[in-house]
Amino acid sequence: MIILLMGPPGAGKGTQATLLEKATGLPHVSTGDLFRAVNPKTPLGAKVSKIMAGGELVRDSLTNELLAQRLQQKDCAKGFLLDGYPRTLAQAKYLDAWLKKRKKRIDAVLYFDLPVAKAVSRLSLRLTCDSCGMVYNELRTPGVKKCVRCGGALYRRDDQSPAAVKKRFAEYGRKTEPVLAHYAAKLRRVDVGQTPEKTFHRAVIALGL
Ligand code: AMP
Repeated sequence: MIILLMGPPGAGKGTQATLLEKATGLPHVSTGDLFRAVNPKTPLGAKVSKIMAGGELVRDSLTNELLAQRLQQKDCAKGFLLDGYPRTLAQAKYLDAWLKKRKKRIDAVLYFDLPVAKAVSRLSLRLTCDSCGMVYNELRTPGVKKCVRCGGALYRRDDQSPAAVKKRFAEYGRKTEPVLAHYAAKLRRVDVGQTPEKTFHRAVIALGL
């Protein structure tokens, strides 16, 4: 199965992808994670880190190349969960062509729907584990200092500054929302609930799992 996870920044796509990965056995492929794994001490890594910290999108050619490399790995042969890609129409067309060439197709596009005001407030409360990437909400886990899963330190991502958040939403509206229309026929809307578990329950129903 090939499933795309879409929605505004702060909708919790990464958390849902982790839960879906456990439920389906499909690998979670996140272009954001792929970019964060590029060594920031290399010229390319430094450039990418700067773009990410500013809330802008990395250029399509580089993003497509990195994604294609990841999808060619063995664990993706039977399908994958794509989180944070495609974010532009050019990326969507690249993915469509990449899949067509391999006689594969997208099974479903989950759209995690959350009003912008709520998404912004969730982002400002978000803490991320620097070791395993688990995401915390300061309101739901007040006073948490270390990751309960791996003991890693929690930090606020660079792209959560007010200026970067503003830029991320502008990029989302201008470049990513048109992608939703591109996949209208496969789109399954999931209202983001109060808890990740509630949202996950809705996602499972939307997918018919
Ligand atoms: P994410 O972890 O999905 O929120 O992504 C973090 C950042 O990585 C984004 O704000 C972009 O700077 C970059 N990024 C991730 N995925 C893409 C993509 N598909 N196209 C361009 N830039 C991306």
